[in-house]
Amino acid sequence: MDQTIKSRPMHAQSVRAISECHTLATFTEEPAHITRRFLTPPVHAVHTHLRQRMEALGMTVQTDAAGNLRGIHQPANAPAKRFLIGSHIDTVPDAGPFDGILGVTLALELVEIVQERQLPLSIEVIAFSEEEGVRYGIPFLGSRAVAGTFDEKLLAYEDADGIPMSEAIRSFGLDPTQIPSAAIEPQQTLGFLEIHIEQGPILEAEDLQLAAVTSIVGQTRGTLTFTGHANHAGTTPMHLRHDALAAAAEWITAVETHANSTPSLVATVGKIFADPNATNVIPGTVHTTLDLRHPSDPIRTVAVEALIAQAQSIAQRRGLTAQFTQTMNEPAIPMDLALTANLTAALESTGLPARILTSGAGHDAMILAARIPTTMLFLRSPGGISHHPAESVREQDVEAALHVAANFLERIFATINNT
Ligand SMILES: [Zn+2]
Repeated sequence: MDQTIKSRPMHAQSVRAISECHTLATFTEEPAHITRRFLTPPVHAVHTHLRQRMEALGMTVQTDAAGNLRGIHQPANAPAKRFLIGSHIDTVPDAGPFDGILGVTLALELVEIVQERQLPLSIEVIAFSEEEGVRYGIPFLGSRAVAGTFDEKLLAYEDADGIPMSEAIRSFGLDPTQIPSAAIEPQQTLGFLEIHIEQGPILEAEDLQLAAVTSIVGQTRGTLTFTGHANHAGTTPMHLRHDALAAAAEWITAVETHANSTPSLVATVGKIFADPNATNVIPGTVHTTLDLRHPSDPIRTVAVEALIAQAQSIAQRRGLTAQFTQTMNEPAIPMDLALTANLTAALESTGLPARILTSGAGHDAMILAARIPTTMLFLRSPGGISHHPAESVREQDVEAALHVAANFLERIFATINNT
């Protein structure tokens, strides 16, 4: 255990990181709720607040053309290559106060800690403008711009009010044609750390505070349609039916059984539509959805194939057909091995178990991971609750995250000094 670090409590900084999240939660589109979509007016207020804090820390601040607020801490004696730390400042509708933004307020505390320790390390803090995909139905707009993978076709997308993305960017005072200049130079970057709440129940169930993320799971989505025959519910005897809903029900429980028996697999049938959806008619057609995620792409592919085959065999036995249409097939994104090893070493040297987790949700980190070494630190989510006003964090977990991240940054600095 690193006694030097243990003997420097970061209580005040963790309390401030949390209270900043509560302050920023008041900048919202809906009074009494936290709703902050991409480049809506409250984002200006968030930028103003964060910019003041960045400037007070002596950082150079700019807003890039995708609306990401970026503050650079560049000590005179530090190498020019920067380490990036950040997360997103947009929210889902009626959100909690910590998803995303805690990773930004903690990044600013880390800049202060790095300054106190006089660590010659250049740090760029990025408050990503968009991650949730609420306003335009496309997630990760901010991190795509930073990674240099923003597709300019997205600028024509319209929100629910018919406002094209390009116009939303212009109304915010930015020039959408400049988005390519928001991209980082991977050669000038040491890596990226995103600190984020787990948004799930695993750490709490294991009574653990933090975990290093090893990968973001791959995901398959699609619709499965069972087609049978609609018919009269009173006159059709049971043995002459081709009930699409009964077939779908059998398949849905098979999906659950399959996921239960495959470690780390999560599979969900979240939507179902029965036609004609009437009390006295045998359902003729049923559309269901499948959302299936696993850290290993081969295991995910095999599971999807097995579940489609199972749907077809259930359908065949009942005299129906089953047709699967895939709508998403995203590979798992591994975090950088060396950076994640530094993170688990930092967990251990601050006296915590080196717990690793895979992330079942997407994060900005998966977009940056395509360009630069990237890792994530998860904090326990009390009750496993997120994307909900009851979302919370424990002060001692936030303090532990600061200890671990500060130790991690010292390791990054030691690495660049040894190379
Ligand atoms: Zn988030």
